[in-house]
Amino acid sequence: MKSYDIIIIGGGPAGTSAALFLAKKGYQVALLEQSRFPRDKVCGEFISPAADAIFSELGVLEAIESLHPLRLKGVVVSAYEQSVFQRDYPPALEAGRQMTSLSVERMVLDHLMLDRVRQSPVEVKEGFKVTDFLFDNGRVCGVSGRDESKTEFKLKARIVVDAGGRNSISLRRLNLKSDSGRNGKIAFAAHWEGVRLPGNYCYMHISRPGYTGIAPTGEGRVNVVLVVDRKCPSVSGVDVFYRQTVLGNSLRRDMLCGGEPVEKVRIVDSLSYSVRPPQCGGLLLVGDATGFVDPFTGEGIYLSLRSSQLAAGMVARALDASDFSKDWLANYDRLRRQEFYKKILLSRILQRLIYSPSLCIRVVKTLARQQELAGLLVGVIGDYVPAGQVVSFGYLMRLLSGWLAGGSAPSPSDPVVSQPQVSRLKN
Ligand SMILES: Cc1cc2nc3c(=O)[nH]c(=O)nc-3n(C[C@H](O)[C@H](O)[C@H](O)COP(=O)(O)OP(=O)(O)OC[C@H]3O[C@@H](n4cnc5c(N)ncnc54)[C@H](O)[C@@H]3O)c2cc1C
Repeated sequence: MKSYDIIIIGGGPAGTSAALFLAKKGYQVALLEQSRFPRDKVCGEFISPAADAIFSELGVLEAIESLHPLRLKGVVVSAYEQSVFQRDYPPALEAGRQMTSLSVERMVLDHLMLDRVRQSPVEVKEGFKVTDFLFDNGRVCGVSGRDESKTEFKLKARIVVDAGGRNSISLRRLNLKSDSGRNGKIAFAAHWEGVRLPGNYCYMHISRPGYTGIAPTGEGRVNVVLVVDRKCPSVSGVDVFYRQTVLGNSLRRDMLCGGEPVEKVRIVDSLSYSVRPPQCGGLLLVGDATGFVDPFTGEGIYLSLRSSQLAAGMVARALDASDFSKDWLANYDRLRRQEFYKKILLSRILQRLIYSPSLCIRVVKTLARQQELAGLLVGVIGDYVPAGQVVSFGYLMRLLSGWLAGGSAPSPSDPVVSQPQVSRLKN
């Protein structure tokens, strides 16, 4: 049976970045992906500015830049058609330069990343679906599955990294997933053409029955993702429901006017779920396989890259020490949780906030006046300002005093909110 140092399951951002990190360390790596690329993936497609540094370390940033991707300047958030704030990403303190977020369609980004892996010494096996693990004394020591021709395979590894995303084999086979049950959310996504957005920003519009993320992806295309309660969609059919709900908000209607979806609406059900760490050695989870809160703060790709960076360090130490036990590998889970804890907490707080209309309207109004507070929040959302700067008593107090001080709505000279929208929002 063929044997590797590391087998990686999945060729999304988590799997390809793990492969590139581990190949750089000189290990013998195989990456198994069930699909053939290019393959599509429902996503808001804007990538936290902090991901640039990781792409650069992986040697893929130049290739991404050579595609001349759009770079978004910041975020615009509107609440229930009554308040809005816009904020450019603040400069990163250490670099002192303007930060921007890449906006690249996943079909393109994931293909580019997998191509990079193909050019490395990693063995890439597309069309290989992992259906189970091989165990030795309770420890994972390989995988089994079927290739496209339905031929069964078994491959051994000293460590398996599962980067299989939200439906990864670990979550099903080892029963690690608990989703958010009846209160779960569902996402609908489609690219539109014929739309001219006011600027290169990510536009988050919060309203009933959910919110949208709208971002330009280049060449006149705009990605429109709608997130609503799972029980929301009516009998009218997915495409009609999506279109009616997106255009049911007047700000979105103004923004998307003249445009049309150019593909069938795609769906992701049960958006949020949490995951227990595996209770066996020989296995690490990265990316969405470790859990998912909600796409509102758009950090999934960054968290995938970063979790793979942390996992690669841990895998190297485990291989050096020849220790693949659950207890040793649990250090990676601790590290990851420590680093992501506050950002995930912020995502959960924002979830509460966006579904409380009057509070949400007030907070957005306050942020429109308090540009420094808005900047901190946008920097945290961009993953380069520590989440502790917003998830703190001090920030809450400053927000409250800004709230109590009152003031007016955004300035009419604001370039990313159109004049009719500003007049409507002034109250
Ligand atoms: C509606 C929505 C909007 C989002 N918007 C954003 C955004 O704007 N910005 C952002 O950064 N993030 C966003 N995200 C999150 C982002 O899409 C994910 O965090 C990211 O794709 C996770 O990458 P991954 O590599 O872990 O998983 P995936 O990208 O899902 O890749 C997993 C890969 O594993 C393969 N695979 C699975 N099982 C097996 C198996 N058994 N054998 C072989 N191969 C297998 C799959 O085919 C797939 O190619 C959004 C997510 C959703 C749902």
